[in-house]
Amino acid sequence: MWRSTTCLRVKTAKRVLGRLAQDKGAASSSKAALKSGRTVLATQRAYYSTNTTPRWASAATALKSTPRHLSDDRSEASTSSILDLPTSRIDDRQVIIGWDPHTYSRYHHIWLRDHCRCSECFHPVTKQRLVNTFEIPPGVKPVHVESRADGLEVKWPSSRPHTSFYPWSWLQQNSYDPHLAREPPQEKILWGAKILQSPPTVTYEEAMAEDDRGLFKWLSNVEKFGFCFITGVPPTPEATEQLSCRIGFIRETQYGRFWDFTSDLAKGDTAYTTMALGAHTDTTYFTDPCGLQLFHLLSHTDGSGGATLLVDGFYVASILKELHPDAYDILSRVPVPAHAAGEASALYTPTPRLGYPVLRHQGEELIQVRWNNDDRSVMSHLEPSMVEAWYDAIRKWYALLTSADSEFWVQLSPGTAVVVDNHRVLHGRSAFDGKRRMCGAYIGIDEYRSKLAILSERFAPDSVVHETAAYASVNGRSIWNPAL
Ligand SMILES: [Zn+2]
Repeated sequence: MWRSTTCLRVKTAKRVLGRLAQDKGAASSSKAALKSGRTVLATQRAYYSTNTTPRWASAATALKSTPRHLSDDRSEASTSSILDLPTSRIDDRQVIIGWDPHTYSRYHHIWLRDHCRCSECFHPVTKQRLVNTFEIPPGVKPVHVESRADGLEVKWPSSRPHTSFYPWSWLQQNSYDPHLAREPPQEKILWGAKILQSPPTVTYEEAMAEDDRGLFKWLSNVEKFGFCFITGVPPTPEATEQLSCRIGFIRETQYGRFWDFTSDLAKGDTAYTTMALGAHTDTTYFTDPCGLQLFHLLSHTDGSGGATLLVDGFYVASILKELHPDAYDILSRVPVPAHAAGEASALYTPTPRLGYPVLRHQGEELIQVRWNNDDRSVMSHLEPSMVEAWYDAIRKWYALLTSADSEFWVQLSPGTAVVVDNHRVLHGRSAFDGKRRMCGAYIGIDEYRSKLAILSERFAPDSVVHETAAYASVNGRSIWNPAL
């Protein structure tokens, strides 16, 4: 039944998290345990449920004509129903939904009224709020709530009667008191050197195919692994530029829009030399570093060397957190200023001027790695007592970043392009001689995420979109899309 499904989902998450804790314990006691090529980011996977169709969704069709009336029911015990729908009741300040006898979510009246998605309150085409939030009385309170088969119906007091409706799956997804398990957009797979056995790859044909399925496969690989090879690309700047544009607008920088260059130091940056480059992320001196980087070796004549280095920053961060939690904490808190100053016509620094930490988080979740020791500016903002600890922390980070377990080396040849998530995967190269011609482009992280989101809507809709699409889609997009 529905109730047990929810319980199971919560319990499963706890079990997986518990197992992760045990795994972490084992890993801490032995570095060898961390030498696995691929590590699933279990904290994210824990929230993921393949059974994304809750009971109420399947019951909805059959039971639509027989809604359950619970509006004035103040008794939490009165949940017996053959329908097994979530219960609903009105409190002084909140509406309380009982998912099962032990799990309740509370939604403030003002919150529910503000999130009404009827066509008067939310434009079904533009997906923009129409309700005037500031005209809602602070003490607004529903006169009636009702558990329907597919969601909660709420009637508001008004000179003009107003009824709101919220799908169950949307309410659960957005439950904030308490926060309930949510699906992450994608499961990330952390990797080390062993990724070379089967690196994520799509063909040029797939990436360019009109039906966009191959593009979805490509970007899903980038989301999971932080990079993806594209094979069979014609070794020309034109074909590579077309490939880049499949993802989104190219982001123009001081290096140009689509770059096509040789090692001539034309742009006042070590990237334009034949020197070896350690693993780094690009444009650490931007407030918003470039999101994706696509590059393609077009030719290499009269010489050798120049192997490509890729390192999963999230993987290395996960090891640092296990082995040196204090160092991880320092890299997560201390901002690092940076600059690009090699050209007379440009002098870039991030805003705020002190920059951002190496490891950036949203809540507990690591969302961005920003690391280029060569572009670092003066560290004059450290507390005197922190100076040695900070150097110790970056030394530990560097040791893990450059360990054989982390480094994925690959000799690219004309015809194979690579796209790298510059907010996660670091790149570098070995020194070379001879003449190399490279081309490539940056694509903003927002353009990439937008493209992935619309492809996910089409090819892998999440449970809320899936359950509400039939009756709530306008112009192909559900008004209950979790992004809104
Ligand atoms: Zn409304």
